[in-house]
Amino acid sequence: MYELELERVVAEIGKRGARRVLLQLPDGMRPFAFQIAEYIRKATPSEVIISGDSCYGACDLASRQAVELNVDLLIHYGHACFVPAPGVPVLYVEARIPINVPKMVEAVLPSIAGWGAVGLTSTVQHTPQLNEVAEALNQRGVKALIGEGAGITPEAGQVLGCSYAAATRLPGEVDGYIFIGGGRFHPLGLALTTGKPVVIANPYNGSVSRLDESELMQLAKKRMAFITAAKTAKTIGVLVSSKPGQRALADAMILAEKLGDREIRAFLIYLDEVRADQLNNFTEPEAFIETACPRIAIDGVAGVERPILTAAEARVLLGEKTWEETWGRAYLG
Ligand code: SF4
Repeated sequence: MYELELERVVAEIGKRGARRVLLQLPDGMRPFAFQIAEYIRKATPSEVIISGDSCYGACDLASRQAVELNVDLLIHYGHACFVPAPGVPVLYVEARIPINVPKMVEAVLPSIAGWGAVGLTSTVQHTPQLNEVAEALNQRGVKALIGEGAGITPEAGQVLGCSYAAATRLPGEVDGYIFIGGGRFHPLGLALTTGKPVVIANPYNGSVSRLDESELMQLAKKRMAFITAAKTAKTIGVLVSSKPGQRALADAMILAEKLGDREIRAFLIYLDEVRADQLNNFTEPEAFIETACPRIAIDGVAGVERPILTAAEARVLLGEKTWEETWGRAYLG
């Protein structure tokens, strides 16, 4: 179902005269890795190497591997550009997935009954069809708005797990949002950032569901409990990611300094992957603050034996923001 754009990939390799390329795919696209690599090998004289490390987003570019392997081009599938890659040209293949718009709109209408206006959002796989969805909804009497793209979400209506700016840049008020895509990861972030109801239209299985309020309440209680527990900590580990698009060393240093001003012993911990087994071996900190992907603390890592806060939650801990100023607003940073 993905548009793999193999001809564009081959043309780009030819244009650049690339002799060696590194192919990077997110987990969900790895079943296509050998197929893509084989196509490139047959269609070009280029040597193809597949990156086997984690790939959580375009924030997680294999640029270090690309430099180590001296490749001429990094081919990154599944995401749009997030940050410029240091030291290597990158070809992004968004891997669009066409959806059946009329069918999806029919399915979604009962779940938004009574809504006069909705905000439309999706991942880069479906953003090219958001205007078509908006037109179909407008014809059915629902005003559908799409926020402008900018920065790390350059496409109109595009959201990432850490950025819902397009959802907050709508040209008008809405009663709630429709997220087009699979899973609950993006809808949850949308609710945390906008505080509005979210309907999930899954184009893969045709299902439509509403993000459960009780799920949000449970999460709010858990996050508040973590912040409360961390307030008594006298030693805190501040996690800094080595991933190109997640590295926030300067912010982490400022945070550690502010903790120090409050007589909290804080040290930076630099790491590529935030894993519970690794963190649990650090027995001195009573809490962790992670300055990498905000979703790691919220729903990305299980089994950490002490509270782990996002950078936004750390501001609540430090008294710079209130809980009410972040929950349902700027919760993801
Ligand atoms: S949510 Fe996390 S993994 Fe996804 S793009 Fe943002 S920083 Fe990267």
